[in-house]
Amino acid sequence: MAVQVLGVLGNGILDPATPVVRADDAGLTRGDGCFEGCRVRTDTAGHTRVDKLDRHVARMARSCAALDMPFDEAGWRTLVEQACRAWTVAGEAALKLVQTRGPADGGPTGLLTVSPLPPDYPRQRREGLRVVSLARGLSADAFAEAPWLLGGVKTLSYAVNMAAQREAERRGADEAIFVAADGAVLEAPTGSVVWALDGGLHTTPTGDTGILAGTTQQLLFERAADVGWATFETLATVEDLHAAAVVWVISSVRGPVDVIELDGKARSRKPVIDAEVRALCDF
Ligand code: PLP
Repeated sequence: MAVQVLGVLGNGILDPATPVVRADDAGLTRGDGCFEGCRVRTDTAGHTRVDKLDRHVARMARSCAALDMPFDEAGWRTLVEQACRAWTVAGEAALKLVQTRGPADGGPTGLLTVSPLPPDYPRQRREGLRVVSLARGLSADAFAEAPWLLGGVKTLSYAVNMAAQREAERRGADEAIFVAADGAVLEAPTGSVVWALDGGLHTTPTGDTGILAGTTQQLLFERAADVGWATFETLATVEDLHAAAVVWVISSVRGPVDVIELDGKARSRKPVIDAEVRALCDF
């Protein structure tokens, strides 16, 4: 997944091979920073636009505020526009915005990259996801009144999330779903969990659970409500997911992908509902 476009806040678009981060940047040494992952789509005339850009910018502003870092919204929007002009390959790609705290004697570093879609995504979208539930080891309300735990903040500290994905792969699955110590379903390492049950769409509440507010899940719920779905924030168990008509893992770049196996139990696919949910998310 080589970076195709590289941008640096304040410096514009650079050769993707340019060294841009100092060795003592706290983003590298401590995972201290935040990021956004967005899908870009380019038409056959080479025009690129970012899906849900305003939602991503708003969430990055919230992440920076939670981390006591400045957020140069105008600078970021300019850099995104420059990257869109630099990327003209028709189809989908992944845009990443990263802001690190920077070195102790400097300010934050802002980086933007455009890369091809991860190679597994087309297959996963086609075939669905095999998922295992993994313990997160905290109660579902562990983040209540503890802002220093950075619940809901899209920090760069994703080593645990990546380890959970590798564990899922070791167990023969594609993806993990985190479960709280009290059995509540939380989220996937890089996606929200949504399920259809009794004619409604459900997802885990944000806030005390510490999960990320997914921009794709939020868009889906707004559009689903417009076309008559009931939508709910529900603390559910893995047993409840087994009883759901469809379970999806949902995120900006991969989109909504239905779960075809949960903890070794096969799930039948529901192509009509699945297609409706994917379409509501622009996938
Ligand atoms: N939850 C986590 C932990 C994530 O990392 C992500 C996205 O990467 C999501 C949920 C889904 O968020 P979005 O739909 O905004 O991509």
